[in-house]
Amino acid sequence: MYKLTHAQYFEALREDRLLGLKCLDCNACTIPPKRTCQECGSTDIEPVSLSGLGAIVTFTVVRVPPEGLDAPYVVALVALDEGPWLMGMIGNIAPGEADVKLIGKKVKVGHKVMAGMKYTAVGEGVVPLFSILDMES
Ligand SMILES: [Zn+2]
Repeated sequence: MYKLTHAQYFEALREDRLLGLKCLDCNACTIPPKRTCQECGSTDIEPVSLSGLGAIVTFTVVRVPPEGLDAPYVVALVALDEGPWLMGMIGNIAPGEADVKLIGKKVKVGHKVMAGMKYTAVGEGVVPLFSILDMES
């Protein structure tokens, strides 16, 4: 059984809220939702609200998009404050300005509705869209 369904996860994401699963055995946080803890495999997990804050670990500029998306855009791997890493687009930077200075920048999660996206989880057209908080530093 899913303690946190994908539907609940995406519904929250539409309101710019991140839901995850906290492991009662090892304390790790799992996102997006899975049946078991992504660190230790325990099924003793419970839904939690995450801060939606994190820092950019690495990023790439996508120039050849999947069908339904407009390129170029910036995709980053974000280390959430609660521990797990989550992939998402970065909304408030021009792809031409994306450089190594992005690494370590603080970001906050939002969302983007992807009406035309074909290759995605069943029936869900919403993806994480991060905004950089400290653009000036
Ligand atoms: Zn665990």
